[in-house]
Amino acid sequence: MISNIETFLVDVPTIRPHKLSVATMNTQTLVLVRIRCADGIEGWGEATTIGGLAYGEESPESIKANIDTHIAPLLAGMDASAVAKAMARVRKVIQGNRFAKCAIETALLDAQGRRLGVPVSELLGGRVRDSLPVAWTLASGDTAKDIAEAEKMLELRRHRIFKLKIGARSVNEDVAHVLAIKRALGDTASVRVDVNQAWSELQAMRGIAALQDGGVDLVEQPVRFDNRDAMRRLARRFDVAIMADESLHGPVDAYNIARTEGADVFAVKIAQSGGLVPAQQVAAVAQLAGIGLYGGTMLEGGIGTAATAQLCATFTDLSWDTELFGPLLLTEEVLREPLVYRDFMLQVPTGPGLGVAVDTDRLRFMCRK
Ligand SMILES: [Mg+2]
Repeated sequence: MISNIETFLVDVPTIRPHKLSVATMNTQTLVLVRIRCADGIEGWGEATTIGGLAYGEESPESIKANIDTHIAPLLAGMDASAVAKAMARVRKVIQGNRFAKCAIETALLDAQGRRLGVPVSELLGGRVRDSLPVAWTLASGDTAKDIAEAEKMLELRRHRIFKLKIGARSVNEDVAHVLAIKRALGDTASVRVDVNQAWSELQAMRGIAALQDGGVDLVEQPVRFDNRDAMRRLARRFDVAIMADESLHGPVDAYNIARTEGADVFAVKIAQSGGLVPAQQVAAVAQLAGIGLYGGTMLEGGIGTAATAQLCATFTDLSWDTELFGPLLLTEEVLREPLVYRDFMLQVPTGPGLGVAVDTDRLRFMCRK
C-alpha cells in the first residue's frame, strides 16, 4: 500500500554557467520524490526541469505543489505493487503535469523493482545493454573555453560526443563558433548542435546548410516546438540529422511527427514524455517509423539519470547515444555512490529498482527549507 509521498526541492550550483538560448543556468533545482509503502519499501523519482518557465510549462515549485496537493492524496492507500493501475488513475484525473507524473511513476517502479529484486530495466521488458555512450554539452558560450573543455573530456576518456547549445547569438556567430570547435576536434569527436527552437525557418535553412557542410552530425530542435511543418521541410531538405526535442511531448506527438516525417531522430526524455512507460512508447513509435533514438536529459541528478539509463538500456537501437551527463554538471551529489562514467560510457546500475541509493542525511541538509 502507498502510505506516504514526499517531495523535496534541492538547489545545486552547476560547475559553470550553462548557457541555453532561453536561459543561463548557474543553479539546477532538483525535484525529488519519495514514495513510502506499507511493506517498508520506498522508491525515489525525480521531476527536474531546466530553465524554469522559460523552457517548459512546469516549474520546480509547481511540480512540488501539484504532487503534494493533488497527486499524493489520489494515490494514498492504493496498492503500491500495481504500478500501472496507480498511474492509470493519475493519468485519468490529472491533465498535463508530465514531469510530476514521471517522478511518481519512476518512484513506483523503483519501489516495485526493489520489492521484486530486479532492476527497473527488467520491469520495462529487459535490458539489451549495460552501458550507454554519453555526450557532453559545451555551453560556456566561449569558443576557446569550449575547445579546451572538449579536449579535456577526450583526454579523460569521458566524452567524445559534444553538443553545442546555440541560438542566443546571430546565425553567423553561432555557425562560426560551432565550426571552429569542429575544426579543432576533427574526426576524433562527433559535434552536434541544439538550437532550442531559436531559429526561424529561413535562419534554419541558412544555419543548417553551413553546419552540414562543416561536418556537424546532428541539429536539435532548430525551430519552435509547434512549427511541425518547418521541421518536416528541414528534415527533408538536409542530409544532416534533424532531431525533435521540445516538439516531442509524449507518445501522441511521437506518432504525429512520425506520421508526417517531421524528424530523423527523437530525443527521448522520460519527463517530457510523462513517465518511463510513455517514453518507452515514444521509442516504440520511433523504431517502427525508422526514426533514430537519442536518450535525452533535463539535466537531472542521479535519480532521474539512473531512471533514463534503465529505460535506454532496453532500446535495441540507440544509434544517436545519450546525453545523460546531468550529475556531472552539478557540484553536489544526492546519491550515496555516484553513477559510474568510464571509457565514454555511463554504466547502467545493476541493483534492484533504479539501482541507486539516496544519501538522505545529505538530502535533509541540502533541501530547500
Ligand atoms: Mg534539447
